[in-house]
Amino acid sequence: MVKIFLDPGHGGSDPGAVGNGIQEKDITLAIATRIKNLLAKYNVEVKMSRTSDTFPSLSDRTNAANAWGATFFMSVHVNSGGGTGFETFVYPGSGAPTTTYQNLIHAEIMKLLDFNDRGKKQSNLHVLRESNMPAILTENGFIDNATDAAKLKNGAYLDKIAQGHVNGLVKAFGLTLKNIAVSEEEAADNKLYRVTTGTFKDVDSQKQAIKNLLTLFKNAYPYDTNGLRAITGTFVGKASAETAAAKIKAKFGYLTYIKAE
Ligand SMILES: [Zn+2]
Repeated sequence: MVKIFLDPGHGGSDPGAVGNGIQEKDITLAIATRIKNLLAKYNVEVKMSRTSDTFPSLSDRTNAANAWGATFFMSVHVNSGGGTGFETFVYPGSGAPTTTYQNLIHAEIMKLLDFNDRGKKQSNLHVLRESNMPAILTENGFIDNATDAAKLKNGAYLDKIAQGHVNGLVKAFGLTLKNIAVSEEEAADNKLYRVTTGTFKDVDSQKQAIKNLLTLFKNAYPYDTNGLRAITGTFVGKASAETAAAKIKAKFGYLTYIKAE
């Protein structure tokens, strides 16, 4: 499985850039945490260099990613120094696939943000140089620019920044969504549920419906209590009965009823 190492820049004793009442270390953690949460619905493993206000050294960060065998290293930063906007960095001289990832991720982030696009760049930075896997560093706005800082103070804007990073990762690594999670309660539900469909206006449409249902399920048979209906079978657990009912609705538009046996 793809393993993404997320590195929120700075932390603890190292605030990073500061300006307009905010600190880079807090913004990078806020963005990276959002990225991690958004990635939870994909088939991907995620590890963070820090999950709170601590300061792992730069070597700690790259050592952790290397030891873990990360597929990709993503470092999240906020800029300062009098500019405005968004830029990304890879290690100088990087070729594909690193530059391909940079192109995809940079483009997906810029699609969602109204930051000035400062472009795709290269720089000899520790985390890009010492990581054994392709790596990117994103610089998300300038903390000392009032307009950029106002965006970084806005949680909804941080959501967008994170979503852009995730959309880029999904494209770059072809991440697929996990199957819908089943709660423990649902998993422990081993009761039997019957899915009934109908009612149908006459026997012919009931017969046709049964034919249709048999394209989706092994069992389907007439059930003529309270009108012309069909039973598509018995399912273990309410969740699987609901999934079956949703399939029937989506494919044929029939009304469905779920009943415990
Ligand atoms: Zn930084």
